Amino acid sequence: MDPVVIIRGLSKVYHQAESEIAALNNVSLDIGRGEFLSLMGPSGSGKSTLLHVIAGIDRPTTGSCRVGDVMVTELNDSELADWRNQTVGFVFQSFNLIPVLTAFENVELPLLLMNLSSSERRRLVMTALELVDLADRARHLPKQLSGGQEQRVAIARAIVTDPMLVVADEPTGNLDSASADAVLEILRTLSRTAGKTVIMVTHDPRAASFGSRTIHLQKGRLSNG
Ligand code: ADP
Ligand code: MG
Repeated sequence: MDPVVIIRGLSKVYHQAESEIAALNNVSLDIGRGEFLSLMGPSGSGKSTLLHVIAGIDRPTTGSCRVGDVMVTELNDSELADWRNQTVGFVFQSFNLIPVLTAFENVELPLLLMNLSSSERRRLVMTALELVDLADRARHLPKQLSGGQEQRVAIARAIVTDPMLVVADEPTGNLDSASADAVLEILRTLSRTAGKTVIMVTHDPRAASFGSRTIHLQKGRLSNG
């Protein structure tokens, strides 16, 4: 395995009122380039926290996370924001599309931070929408789409900047099984044919089985399932 994510001794402690919550407890993990990793575990076991640390949304209390050549846990806030914009695509359970923007405009949003011509943006947006099989819905608003279609637009938005990592937190949690399968097939294609490293949190063993490997968290620690 050619590891693209190298995590060592990661812990995250939240302080709340009088108590301390160990959301992550000494997690070490390698994730290969192009791997589709499923992350399972009971509610509160630290899945989202681990995903957020890998994606540079959250910082650990101790430990390190390297992605490619970058020691993510050593970046300052502005370096971290730049790195995230260039490297990570996010997919959320609740899609998080902007309701007043069309599918096209939602997917275009991350590109507005980059210095691209409108014709270049258009080409990238349509390529991403074609990849999720929604080129014909480009002018639809989110409310004019099914939940499954909304999530596919959200995937197009996540990948339009060609990030190396795609992280998805319960991406099929709000979908019926047919829509979920379409989303999972796309995530699998991203890892298999586009070489993206995909990390997906899920409660659903069937969804997890689309991945190339499943790991389990239990009370902030990696377990064997
Ligand atoms: P999961 O995604 O597996 O359900 P989380 O990573 O969201 O779990 O949370 C792990 C633990 O950390 C839980 O006990 C949760 O209550 C706690 N936690 C998460 N985020 C915060 C926060 N911002 N402040 C305090 N505690 C938190
Ligand atoms: Mg969670």
